[in-house]
Amino acid sequence: MANASDPPDRPTLRPDPRPDLLSLVPEALDHALAEHFRSRGQPAFRATQVRKWVYETGVASFQEMTNLPQEERDALEAAFRLEAPEPETVSRSADGTVKHLWRMEDGELIESVLIPTPERLTLCLSSQAGCAMGCTFCATGWGGFGRQLTTGEIVAQYRGSRAWAEAHDYGPIHNLVFMGMGEPLANRKAVHPALTILNAGLGVGARRITVSTVGVVPGIRELAARPEQFGLALSLHSPEEALRAELIPLEKRHPLPEIMDALHAFRDAGGRRITFEYTMIRDVNDAEALAPKLAARAREVHAFVNLIPFNPIPDQDWLPSRPERVEFFRRTLDAAGVSVAVREPRGRDIDAACGQLRANALVELEGPRRKRGRARGAKVAGAPAAGNGAEG
Ligand code: SF4
Repeated sequence: MANASDPPDRPTLRPDPRPDLLSLVPEALDHALAEHFRSRGQPAFRATQVRKWVYETGVASFQEMTNLPQEERDALEAAFRLEAPEPETVSRSADGTVKHLWRMEDGELIESVLIPTPERLTLCLSSQAGCAMGCTFCATGWGGFGRQLTTGEIVAQYRGSRAWAEAHDYGPIHNLVFMGMGEPLANRKAVHPALTILNAGLGVGARRITVSTVGVVPGIRELAARPEQFGLALSLHSPEEALRAELIPLEKRHPLPEIMDALHAFRDAGGRRITFEYTMIRDVNDAEALAPKLAARAREVHAFVNLIPFNPIPDQDWLPSRPERVEFFRRTLDAAGVSVAVREPRGRDIDAACGQLRANALVELEGPRRKRGRARGAKVAGAPAAGNGAEG
C-alpha cells in the first residue's frame, strides 16, 4: 500500500531467507506452521503450540518453546526466524516511564516507550528507524532517516515490551500508540500487517490502537477503508497552513484542507476516534488568536485535543508555552465544546521524547557531524519551534 510519498524503501537486506513468523499475519502464520508440521509428519496441535508461544508469550527463540521436542525446535529454527531485537538500554524514569532502545540485527536503533498512569499502561511504538519527514521540532527528525522497519520488528517491540512489563509488575498493556520514531503512514507496507497481527493475533482491541500521522493523506484514507476501528492521531501543531508548513514540511505536499477532507472520510467510516496532538511552543504556535482556530478545526471532525507543553531538547533554545497560555487554550477549547486534555511530557529525565535516545546514541557513535547535519536549530517564523518526540 506504499505510494510515491513514502521515503526510500530500504528494508533490512537480510540474506536470511527464512520467513519471520512475526511478519506473518495470523492466517499466514497458521498456514505456514500447519504446512511445516504436516511435512514433518507431526500432529496438527504442534502449530497451535507454536502460535501460543508467538502470540501469548515473549519467548525470544524457538529453543525456549519447551513443550516441543528438541528436534522440532531445531526444525523450526531451520525453517523460520523469530524477530527478537536485543535491548541496547532500558531507561526507567522517576515517573515510571520506561524506554527501551532496541538494537536491530543490522545495528539500527529504535525506541519504544512504556507509559504508566494509575488507570492504564500505554506502549508507544516506532515504525521506522529515524524519520524522513524532517519536522523542525522533532529529535527523530534531526536524527535522520535510517530505514523502514519490517512488520516483525514492529510487532517485536510489543512482544519485548509486554514481556518486560510483566516481569517488572507493570501489568498488562492497555493501549498502543504508533507515536514513536517514524511516520507510520509512510511505512504502510509494514504497518498494515502489523496492525492486523497486533489486533487479530496478539489480541489488542482495534479501538485501543492509535496510529499517529503528520498528515499522510493516502495513508489516512487507507486506514479509513479498513474494517477495524483503529484510532487516528493527527500531529496538528498549528491550525494555520502557513505556520504548520514551517513546522512540518509535509504540509506543503498535503495541506490542511486536504487533510481535513481525509479526516472527514475517516470519521464517516464510523466508530473511530480522532485526536489532535498540539505541542505548545512558546511564541511559536501559542498565540491567543490560534486557540479559536484550533477549536474550529477540532469541532469540524469531532476531534479530541491533547495540548502538550513542548519538551525541551538539549542544544535547543525552544521553550514550552507558559502554563497560563496552556490554560487559555484549554479553556477556549472547552468553552467551544471540544474535549481537551493537557498532557505533561513523560520521562523527561530519560530523554523519553521519541528519537532523543537514538539521536544521542548516534551522536555518540558518529560525533557531532550527524547532529549538525539536520535543521535541528532552525528557527520558525522568527521564533523557536517545538520539540518533543515523534508525534508523527
Ligand atoms: S514528528 Fe513524526 S513525522 Fe515529524 S520528524 Fe518526528 S517522527 Fe517524523
